[in-house]
Amino acid sequence: MDLRYSEAELAFRAELRAWLAEVLPTLPPKPDPDDWPARRAFDTGWQRLLFEAGYAGINWPTEVGGRGATLTEQLIYLEETTRAGAPYVGVNFVGLLHAGPTLMTEASDEQKAAHLPRILRGDEVWCQGFSEPGAGSDLAALSCRAELDGDEYVITGQKIWTSFAQVADYGELLVRTDPDAPKHKGITWLILPMDIPGIEIRPLQTIVGSTEFSEVFFDEARVPVANRVGAENDGWRIAMVTFSFERGTAFISDLVETDRMISDLVALAKKVTRRSATAWDDKALRREVGRMQADMDALWALTKRNLAQADRHGVPGPGGSVVKLYYSELLQRLTDLAMQILDRASLSRTDVAGLGSGAFVEERLRSTSFTIAAGTSQIQRNIVAERILGLPKDR
Ligand SMILES: Cc1cc2nc3c(=O)[nH]c(=O)nc-3n(C[C@H](O)[C@H](O)[C@H](O)COP(=O)(O)OP(=O)(O)OC[C@H]3O[C@@H](n4cnc5c(N)ncnc54)[C@H](O)[C@@H]3O)c2cc1C
Repeated sequence: MDLRYSEAELAFRAELRAWLAEVLPTLPPKPDPDDWPARRAFDTGWQRLLFEAGYAGINWPTEVGGRGATLTEQLIYLEETTRAGAPYVGVNFVGLLHAGPTLMTEASDEQKAAHLPRILRGDEVWCQGFSEPGAGSDLAALSCRAELDGDEYVITGQKIWTSFAQVADYGELLVRTDPDAPKHKGITWLILPMDIPGIEIRPLQTIVGSTEFSEVFFDEARVPVANRVGAENDGWRIAMVTFSFERGTAFISDLVETDRMISDLVALAKKVTRRSATAWDDKALRREVGRMQADMDALWALTKRNLAQADRHGVPGPGGSVVKLYYSELLQRLTDLAMQILDRASLSRTDVAGLGSGAFVEERLRSTSFTIAAGTSQIQRNIVAERILGLPKDR
C-alpha cells in the first residue's frame, strides 16, 4: 500500500488551496446566528461558489453533477477547507449529506433529475421530518398519517425537532401509510414540498438561544404520489439508508473541526495564567489533551475505513455509529476541559480578556445536543452491540 500522495492528488490540493485563498476573503460577513433568511443566503451562496468552481458534491458521482473525487481527494478537500476556515455546509446539511445521497440510491430518475442538480447548486434547501413527540429513538412508532386520495397523499399529524424547517424548500418526510401493518412495515418516505397549504412551522429555541429547529404541523396537506421515494410501506428500509449516510459520513467535517478545536484549546491553555504559571504548565491537563488527540487520531483512522467501505458498497456501514458515538462524547469532554481552563470566564457567553472564551462556551452548550441528534448515544451503543458485535437484540 502506497501511503504517499500521487502527483495528481498533490496538484488537487494545491489547486484547491489556491482557490480557497482567492475566494474566502471575498465572502460577506457571517450573518447573525438567528437570522435564518440571511443564513440561508450565506450558506447557499457559498454552495453556489463551490458549484461554479467544480467542488460541489465532492463525493457525488459525476453523472449527477458531482465531482466524483477519489477517497483521498475527499479527505484532502476536508482537510483544506477546514484548515482555511471555509464556511461549513450549514443549512445545506440535510440536502448534501443525507437527503441527496438517499435520492441517489433510492429515487426514480425523474426525482433525481428534479432535485440533485438544484441541491448541488445551492438552489434547494432540505430538512428532515422524521421525529415526532411520541417517536424519537423508537422512530418506527411514528403516527403522522398519510391517506391516499386519488394521486395525492393527504397528510395529518406532527413532526418535531425539524432542523432548518423555516428555510427549507423540501423535507424528507416519514409517514404512516398502513396503520394496521406491523409498525416497521406501514411507513412511507416522501419528498415534502415545504410551501404547500396545510403546513404550519413553529420554531423552537435551543439552549444556545437560536431557533434552529421547529415543530411542523400538518392539517390535510396534500403531497403528490409522484413524490414517493420507493414503494408504499417500504419507507423504513429507505429511512435506514438515510441514517447510514447521516451517521456514517455526514459527521466527517465536524471531526476535522474538532481536531482544530484541540489546537485552539492548547492555545487557550497557554494564554490562561494561574499564579506564576499558565494552565498549559499543568501536567495533568497536558496528559488529558494528549489522550484526546490520540482519540481523534483513532477516530480519523476509523473514518477513513468507513469512507473506504462506503465507496465500495455505495452506502456506509454501521461503523458510522462508532464514530458518531465516540466523536459526540469526545466533543463534550473537550469542551468540558475548556470550561475548566476558563474557570470563571466560562460563566459568560461574551468574550473575556481576549481569550475567545465565548466561542468555547457556545460550543459547550451546543455539544449537549450532539449525543441526542441523529440517534442518541444509547441507541448508537445498541447498534454497535447488535450490528457490529453480534450481541442479542435490544428488547
Ligand atoms: C440538535 C438536534 C437536531 C435534530 N434535528 C432533527 C431533524 O432535523 N429531524 C428529525 O426528524 N429529528 C431531529 N432531531 C431529533 C432526534 O433525532 C431525536 O431527539 C433523537 O432521535 C431522540 O429522540 P427523542 O428526543 O424522542 O428521545 P427519546 O427517544 O424519548 O429518548 C429519551 C431517552 O431514552 C433513551 N432511550 C430510548 N430508547 C432507548 C433504548 N431502546 N435503549 C436505551 N436507551 C433508550 C434515549 O437514549 C434518551 O436518553 C434533532 C435533535 C437534536 C437534539
